[in-house]
Amino acid sequence: MLLERGLIKNASEIPADAIPIDPELTMPTHLRCPAVCYLDIEFICTECGRPDFWSAGSQQHYFEISKASPYKEPKRCYDCRQKELARKIQARLDSGHTPS
Ligand SMILES: [Zn+2]
Repeated sequence: MLLERGLIKNASEIPADAIPIDPELTMPTHLRCPAVCYLDIEFICTECGRPDFWSAGSQQHYFEISKASPYKEPKRCYDCRQKELARKIQARLDSGHTPS
């Protein structure tokens, strides 16, 4: 499919387990080299410094189903994201807003 569109020159440029990106989408900026597929990305959590990875499948869901900003990059590991979420919800409650 990607070959037919001329996005890549040969299929060997893309690992077998990579997920092709919807070409209608703005290319997520964190993706490197031929930015035509999602790959599992390893990153270091900015919060606790632990290594974590962002799976290709969850990136696809994030950008194509949740329609997240293509400028989003992985920063926090799963645990720290949960803590940050809880902190934000608590902060909203503390400031007198009702949860939506
Ligand atoms: Zn963390």
